Amino acid sequence: MPRILLIAATTGYQTRSFAAATARVNAEMTLATDRCHILEDPWQDRAIPIRFENPHESAEFLAQTVRDLKIDGIAAVADRPTLIAALTAEKLGLPWHPPHAAAACRDKHKMRELFAKAGLLIPPHEKIPIETDPIAPPFPCVLKPLGLSGSRGVIRADNHREFIAAFERIRRIIDQNESHIQVEQYIPGREFALEGLMTYGALHTLAIFDKPDRLEGPFFEETLYITPSREPTAVQQAIEDTTRRAVMALGLYHGPIHAEMRVNDTGVYMLEIAARPIGGLCSRALRCDDITLEELIVMHALGTMPKRLERASPASGVMMIPVPRAGVFEYASGVENAQAIAGIDDVVITAKRGETLVPLPEGSSYPGFIFATGPSPEFVENALRRAHHELHFHTVSTLPVIP
Ligand code: ADP
Ligand code: CA
Repeated sequence: MPRILLIAATTGYQTRSFAAATARVNAEMTLATDRCHILEDPWQDRAIPIRFENPHESAEFLAQTVRDLKIDGIAAVADRPTLIAALTAEKLGLPWHPPHAAAACRDKHKMRELFAKAGLLIPPHEKIPIETDPIAPPFPCVLKPLGLSGSRGVIRADNHREFIAAFERIRRIIDQNESHIQVEQYIPGREFALEGLMTYGALHTLAIFDKPDRLEGPFFEETLYITPSREPTAVQQAIEDTTRRAVMALGLYHGPIHAEMRVNDTGVYMLEIAARPIGGLCSRALRCDDITLEELIVMHALGTMPKRLERASPASGVMMIPVPRAGVFEYASGVENAQAIAGIDDVVITAKRGETLVPLPEGSSYPGFIFATGPSPEFVENALRRAHHELHFHTVSTLPVIP
């Protein structure tokens, strides 16, 4: 049986989905994950314990540990393990994204430099040391941490006062290891995402997603992803062409990629590219035939991709439900009503009772997801918005109660 090595953050949804995918394509999986070394196999799943914060040591250990197994392909879930996957693939002689490319994808400043060198459109940008009194750039601008994701700590500022407030706020969000904050010109325009698979340097686009919500700040919640795109062919072509140039600029080579871009009259501005598939539950919006995205990635890693792929539905989409307000989550109501709306496939409330919900820019997780499919992107968008409208998140205040 072919064997895939999966490097995954936790036993979260996507990890389980990869395990199911591996079984469905009649392969075996070896899991490497970020756990303590103190206990011998504490989770009883024979996962190999590694440390995500030490990519080089972890890759060395991992390559040694799987030495006697025949590993046919490699995959990674989420951002942090991508560099370890790249280093391990290199040691095992498996095709994947090279380490320098995986590392660049996790550094917003480096990424911008490589895009600029390749002649791609980029906003004027600057990396400001955290310990200085920052000099404000032209407005509007966007401030962001270099190494976080999911729009955490990404804040727009339109004037000096907002700039200083945002700088201070990001200082409190990022951890001690971060020494700089990225500041760049605000790029107006419509936002998109491209999900792709690279095969020995060639990009294959699986889907272009429209993000039909206005993402104008001051914080940038992802919310809606809808495919296929409603943009004219020329715009979609430009998105694809720019992504192709951007993945080449970064040196991405073999495996999944997730690219995000803004488009306006000047052209396509690449925001960032990740050396991994779309995160978490959202991959559900990408089913082809009866194949999940994770199955496709496993097959690709094993070199057994199907030649032709048909989308399971003419249009599909997901809403990552924004945190409505800060508070301790009690329960969600209206789920049945939301589920009853035509086109809605599933409403998943991921928040757990007692969990503290934190909105952006500090927060990092969504309280739930809504999935829809239908005959057209308009239909799907409408269904997602109506379903969202039905949902109510009941929370109790996190503030102390004054008697
Ligand atoms: P993250 O890794 O946290 O997702 P991004 O760089 O992708 O960080 O930024 C998150 C979101 O913030 C983007 O999807 C976009 O909506 C917005 N954003 C980021 N940079 C800019 C910019 N220069 N101009 C306009 N919007 C931006
Ligand atoms: Ca992003």
